[in-house]
Amino acid sequence: MSYRSYADIIIDISLESLDRTYQYGIPDELLESAVIGAPVLVPFGKGSRKINGYIVGLSDSPKIDEQLIKPIIKVENAPVIESHLIWLAYWIKENFGGTMNDALKSVMPVRKTVKTKQVRSLSLAVSEQEAARLCEEFRKKNNKARLRLLEALLEEGTIDYNRAVKDLRIPRESIDYLCNMRIARLSSEQIYRNPVKLESSEYNRIELNEEQRRIVDDFIRDYEEGKRLGYLIHGITGSGKTEVYMEIISYVIGRGKQVIMLIPEIALTYQTVSRFWRRFGDRVSILNSRMSQGERYDQSIRAKNGEIDIIIGPRSALFTPFPNLGLIIIDEEHEYSYKSESVPKYHAVDVAIKRAQLTGSCVILGSATPSLESYLKASRGELKLYTLRHRAKAAGQPTVWIVDLRDELKRKNKSIFSAKLKELINDRLSRREQIMLFLNRRGYAGFVSCRSCGYVVKCPHCDVSLTAHNNRLLICHYCGYSISQPDLCPECGSKYIAAFGTGTQKVEELVKKEFPGARVLRMDADTTKNKGDYETILSAFSRQEADILIGTQMIVKGHDFPAVTLVGIIAADLSLYTGDFRAGERTFQLLCQAAGRAGRDVLPGEVVIQTYHPEHYSIVAAADGNYEAFFEQELLYRRLMKYPPTSHILLMLVTSASLEQAERAVSLLGEAARLFIQEQKIDADIIGPAPASLSKLNDIYRQLIYIKHDDYNSLVNIKNYIEGYFIYSQQFSGCNLMFDFDPMSGY
Ligand code: ADP
Ligand code: ZN
Ligand code: ZN
Repeated sequence: MSYRSYADIIIDISLESLDRTYQYGIPDELLESAVIGAPVLVPFGKGSRKINGYIVGLSDSPKIDEQLIKPIIKVENAPVIESHLIWLAYWIKENFGGTMNDALKSVMPVRKTVKTKQVRSLSLAVSEQEAARLCEEFRKKNNKARLRLLEALLEEGTIDYNRAVKDLRIPRESIDYLCNMRIARLSSEQIYRNPVKLESSEYNRIELNEEQRRIVDDFIRDYEEGKRLGYLIHGITGSGKTEVYMEIISYVIGRGKQVIMLIPEIALTYQTVSRFWRRFGDRVSILNSRMSQGERYDQSIRAKNGEIDIIIGPRSALFTPFPNLGLIIIDEEHEYSYKSESVPKYHAVDVAIKRAQLTGSCVILGSATPSLESYLKASRGELKLYTLRHRAKAAGQPTVWIVDLRDELKRKNKSIFSAKLKELINDRLSRREQIMLFLNRRGYAGFVSCRSCGYVVKCPHCDVSLTAHNNRLLICHYCGYSISQPDLCPECGSKYIAAFGTGTQKVEELVKKEFPGARVLRMDADTTKNKGDYETILSAFSRQEADILIGTQMIVKGHDFPAVTLVGIIAADLSLYTGDFRAGERTFQLLCQAAGRAGRDVLPGEVVIQTYHPEHYSIVAAADGNYEAFFEQELLYRRLMKYPPTSHILLMLVTSASLEQAERAVSLLGEAARLFIQEQKIDADIIGPAPASLSKLNDIYRQLIYIKHDDYNSLVNIKNYIEGYFIYSQQFSGCNLMFDFDPMSGY
């Protein structure tokens, strides 16, 4: 028997069997309803027992002998959450690359090896007087084990079965004896490992201010009118976005709907989450990366069963299987952690918008410094824009000083502290107010700049800074262009031209030397190796056990420190020249966040930005707190250079243990892409092949190609073509191929 179309079906959606799909024939009358994600009934195994499965792929040809392929019996029409998530996985695979299996693993709750945790406990089944009498009796008869157990029960009421056996060393026979005699009762219950601990304190309802109220009212009006839209809340730090989210969440769950709230893992602190607990009690649950797979699975089951209405978590919480989803919120939507670092490299914002479309839900993105992508969507009317311009409490905006480091050098000040910063630090130390010193270390990659004039060595083709390598070569990581490191500045002839970079540890030493009386804490990757270190340092600082906190970008997020009235940014430029087209945006975001740390409470704040490029628009706009000005400038640059979000980039990374094979493969793929875009008349730019910036990682060679085009879907077509070629051709053995659309990390 032959069919016009075939379906790949998974029988059981647990991780182990995701890899196993079975092919079935689609009878003509089911062709229309047999779509990806559809739940089906199929004959399975020797006895052709009827069981349920889901369609995860479709094809025109059989993979095995046609005679062995059985037909689908029926397509079920009940809409189920699994179907929806499978379809979403398919969409992710199509738009971000990777296999269906990779996508399903990202999207489906994982059932693997989860044993439902049984808790058995013992409790007293007789009155206390009776128990006391029995104790006496056991003591006389010298029944030590029975006595120990009964005494423990008298004291604690109930005790855990395992504890009785292990800690109290009670033999099972003694426990059985007490139970059989109805002195003690054994009970067991299946518990969900709910990580939420309820706060007892009453929730204090905050009266929304007018700016906040207007947003909430407008959202509700849209919702009542049946509109299910996407929104972007652009609100400065401390403007009360979280209060707005909570008010809207409260409305949406009042309509019987459920809510997913994404927060970057680093901001998922007790401080943040407890605000939600206080307001929503045990209807809210959290997910985080420290939880075991079993704990995460439990949360998804609770969501599916309607035991919770709100889930708060990082990127992966996006796939919580709520059957009645009403709203997805993404806070700090500009954060890079919303992009998956493993295949498929999806972006949570895009997937959230898609999931909302599929389910008739709303999406709210929120940020003090929206990503260019989202703000562009808002300016095109694809997202509705709300703006919060004022801090909800506190003193108002801090005063910002921009210090030109070139002037400091002219005045023979070679220290890392400008005269202004030194003066203000001394002032705060004398007033016992706190200081944060921020070192933007992300750009430590080693761009080369001139300390006299600020000149930065850039690629003439890509307008990104070149990166210094050990062999005194400066290399462009986008196109492979390279030159040897100049001895004198090509701009001003100064000999102070060198790779830039200062570590936090160095800064700490210099602070201690310059300000001997100050108590200093340092937070960076080295001091936060262990679980809990991060919180420990932050809480010590908030108890004012130190005057100065030195750190990398880690310190600019989340926490409120009312006594911080000075923020110093040691070298704002460190993130400007990272060889990444998003460097200007990244710098702007970091500076705004850092500035937002100063003067959060009644005391007014000051910010000192030290830079070699006081005229750079990212720095000027951040100092003015002017997002719109930054956006306009940055968008011009992206448009000019055909970078996202006005254009799109498809990155293809080829990896292989053999350099020769990697180079051969990448040049074959580059040729194939060139031919394909010619044939299809796609007007795309192909850049490369070139070695990746990390050209060799763990003895694996990395080569890449970038393709730029205005239309995302054309890039998807190129990806599909190249992927097919790569899989079906014999020429790529020993090589791997990975795709990344609009990359956010370096390669
Ligand atoms: P964001 O999320 O925009 O950074 P938050 O919602 O965390 O801002 O609010 C910042 C601070 O201001 C919080 O301490 C919050 O309790 C307080 N706050 C927010 N809105 C109001 C309001 N309408 N009245 C008083 N305090 C408010
Ligand atoms: Zn110079
Ligand atoms: Zn270049």
